Amino acid sequence: MKWEVVIGLEIHTQLATASKIFSGASTTYGAPPNSQACLVDLGYPGILPVLNEQVVRMAIKFGLATNCKISRRSVFARKNYFYPDLPKGYQISQYELPIVSGGHIDIVLDDGEIKTIRITRAHLEEDAGKSLHENFHGASGIDLNRAGTPLLEIVSEPDLRSAMEAGIYMRKIHTLVRYLGISDGNMQEGSFRCDANVSIRLKGDKKLGTRTELKNLNSFRFVEKAIEIEVERQIEILEEGGHIVLETRLYDSDRNETRPMRSKEEANDYRYFPDPDLLPLVIEDALVDELKDSLPELPDAKRVRFVKEYELSDYDAGVLTANLETADYYEEAVRSTTVASPKLVANWVQGELAAALNRDGLDIAEAKVASAELGLLAERIEDGTVSGKLAKEVFERLWHDGGSIDDIIEQRGLKQISDSGTIEKLVDDVLAQNPTQLEQFRGGNEKVIGFFVGQIMKASDGKANPKQVNAILRKKLNE
Ligand code: ADP
Ligand code: MG
Repeated sequence: MKWEVVIGLEIHTQLATASKIFSGASTTYGAPPNSQACLVDLGYPGILPVLNEQVVRMAIKFGLATNCKISRRSVFARKNYFYPDLPKGYQISQYELPIVSGGHIDIVLDDGEIKTIRITRAHLEEDAGKSLHENFHGASGIDLNRAGTPLLEIVSEPDLRSAMEAGIYMRKIHTLVRYLGISDGNMQEGSFRCDANVSIRLKGDKKLGTRTELKNLNSFRFVEKAIEIEVERQIEILEEGGHIVLETRLYDSDRNETRPMRSKEEANDYRYFPDPDLLPLVIEDALVDELKDSLPELPDAKRVRFVKEYELSDYDAGVLTANLETADYYEEAVRSTTVASPKLVANWVQGELAAALNRDGLDIAEAKVASAELGLLAERIEDGTVSGKLAKEVFERLWHDGGSIDDIIEQRGLKQISDSGTIEKLVDDVLAQNPTQLEQFRGGNEKVIGFFVGQIMKASDGKANPKQVNAILRKKLNE
């Protein structure tokens, strides 16, 4: 490939406040249209906005977690444009002086390489309302419930070099805002969405190519697919000698294509100016210090700790810490028991548990097997009560019917056979029943050992302790 892909993301994160950024109206999702829009949100003249303190705290937390500078003085600006869902005729945002700027985060690429992505800025702004086009014959409805909902717009430098890197970066920011508790990150409800700026240039070129901006991508997969398809489009145009038009495009996931939406606006189109209704936002050092002290353990630190404390691979630790709920579940499972191998528990969380959650479309908070139970199950595998295979049956039974692990093992006769007398008898029977294979073994064919093990396990209904079966079988064969 002679082309280099260049991507910068603008991520809009809805902040998890009870009320709006400049009014007391509720931010609860899904209320009847216009039931949560007060005079401020409706843009009535003469009404004054009042800044919600919580959004300031949340923005600062994000800045601290991403090595950014927290501006001691920032300014709200009016971004003027006309749209039916924006009754004031301007959006209150931050322009020249954002609250947070100049930081970076690390992402882990698929090959394990760590790459630093710079964050240009993160600024506070209000969301607009929504136009509703369904159910209105020849007209559109306007729902202003979302108007005034607080957003933190997180802008990256153009440091991302592939659709995959963009996806990893976006997931990392998602993980981070949820760890910080500043956003629910719910993508179906639009609480976390992004615009992807995409350009290409010849490898080695210093100057950036002309970009297009892909608007409102609301899933990780769409971000990746939209960028991939847009890169292909741009390469095709440049290779045919054409040029890229600076424009805003929409991604159509049904057709997997991007389409022009409008020519790209410039900052001066918006006539930004400081909002005279809002004083500059001044932040005291004491507040920053307080929030610094209140930060939770962040994903990177947790990952490193999991590797050290639980002797996990970097990969396992990364998967388990990708969301806080999974990390907490895992730690509770390990800590609530005397299980010797935290790796065993990690396998179960990423294996059976993840599969069951996925199958039933549940969040880990809704898991039907509690963390302590999973820990106990791992303990029962370790102490030899059940084999790993039968433990899966116990897990399924727990998931569907509840109950206690030890009762299920008892009632269902799932207990592993570890009594050497019983296993010797099974081995003897199987060897006696298969003289041909025994001859083959004596003739030097080692492969039939696997056959014998299979037969013995079958004869025991899968309950014989496989380690003991192997040992006893080999002993007998060598006699
Ligand atoms: P605007 O606000 O008009 O979209 P910005 O200059 O703030 O413009 O840039 C927004 C995003 O676009 C940033 O994430 C930035 O990294 C990215 N970006 C800027 N130029 C390019 C380019 N040539 N190719 C890819 N991304 C770019
Ligand atoms: Mg933009």
